Amino acid sequence: MSLHQELIDRDRQVTFHASTHLRDFAHGDAPGRVISGGKGINIVDKDGREFIDGFAGLYCVNIGYGRTEVAEAIYRQALELSYYHTYVGHSNEPQIALSEKILELAGPGMSKVYYGMSGSDANETQLKIVRYYNNVLGRPQKKKVISRMRGYHGSGIASGSLTGLKAFHDHFDLPIETIRHTKAPYYYHRGADQEGMSEREFSKYCAQKLEEMILAEGPETVAAFIGEPVLGTGGIVPPPEGYWAEIQAVLAKYDVLLIADEVVCGFGRIGAEFGSHYYGIKPDLITVAKGLTSAYQPLSGVIVGDRVWKVLEQGTGEYGPIGHGWTYSGHALGCAAGLANLEIIAREGLTQNAAETGAYLQQQMQAAFGDHPIVGQVRGVGMLAALEFSASPAKREHFDPSLKVGPRIAIAALEENLIVRAMPQGDILGFAPPLVITRDEVDEVVARAKRAVDRVTDELV
Ligand code: PLP
Repeated sequence: MSLHQELIDRDRQVTFHASTHLRDFAHGDAPGRVISGGKGINIVDKDGREFIDGFAGLYCVNIGYGRTEVAEAIYRQALELSYYHTYVGHSNEPQIALSEKILELAGPGMSKVYYGMSGSDANETQLKIVRYYNNVLGRPQKKKVISRMRGYHGSGIASGSLTGLKAFHDHFDLPIETIRHTKAPYYYHRGADQEGMSEREFSKYCAQKLEEMILAEGPETVAAFIGEPVLGTGGIVPPPEGYWAEIQAVLAKYDVLLIADEVVCGFGRIGAEFGSHYYGIKPDLITVAKGLTSAYQPLSGVIVGDRVWKVLEQGTGEYGPIGHGWTYSGHALGCAAGLANLEIIAREGLTQNAAETGAYLQQQMQAAFGDHPIVGQVRGVGMLAALEFSASPAKREHFDPSLKVGPRIAIAALEENLIVRAMPQGDILGFAPPLVITRDEVDEVVARAKRAVDRVTDELV
């Protein structure tokens, strides 16, 4: 038996894996893989088989694999100080420098950074801030948070409630009471009564649905709205034209805070520092993770804008020190990794590369799949792209879900040594390569994806 197989067998005995058929995996009926290394856009498993990672892990390894500069920064920091807590005003040098850098990138209006370890815990912090904010302002009934169907914001009790995907709610008794979900800005899936709408009209329609929800709930009960600049795990769906301007006008009208979940878009992925900059979003609060460290260390952040910060200060003036904190907030190794990572992104112009090589990726995807008989839509922005499969592209008809077209194509891609992601709801294949990808590598990703899609197409017709 190979070492790889032996490791997988041991893993089956002891590990609980995310998004996995637990019984099949534990009993050897679902595949496993042990990843042992990576360089640039490639990863390698314990058998030495190399794959192009067309999804940058979980859209997080933005600077690519095997960057020794980051490893060295972590090592140097570990020799000096791995950890000390950041409660009651304690800090460490990398945390200070990283906060300065994040605020500089986020731009005017942002005041402070609070750190966590994951996007999910950062969104938990966001929800606590929103509650506290309205309590301080004497509006204890203003607590509901509106998210979107197909939004993804994590998988905890509260962050998983913000997520608008069925699989993350069913059998967990979610969402919790104070969370609502409004219409997804998913023009391709517009309903029959929206068929004739332009993108702009559809954006207005989404904003109107949001306004109707706020009015139905009572504006005095609605505290915040959370959204990803580009819907990510819900299908990699860039917003329809004018969407964010329309949404922000409604939020301003009813004094509802805006949380931009930049966990995927932040730090260059769509060719701007933040998705908010790209789409003209002016958030009160921003969630970051993933690209903050390119996953060399687990680190997330909540960026608090001036308007909210003033109220938090006022609150501690009245109630005393804030009752919130994680043991590992501002972890020195995470912050050192974050600094080294952001330095690489700046030095190598990776945000610019996401814009330029990302535009090339979009072009090549259109060229390869624009007229493909089972592709309903090719979409994306910067270094985020998706193929949505359809039984009848002209009518935007879905495949029968039991055919599992998306997952089958992801498996066929794996046979081509390409990792792309079958998105969890619908037959959608997601692409989010490391931002270091070159044009030649884009050509290779598209060529492998094309062979995989063609192979499954032949099986279907
Ligand atoms: N927010 C967004 C937009 C995400 O895409 C994710 C994860 O994919 C999260 C939050 C949750 O992050 P984590 O998995 O680190 O908890």
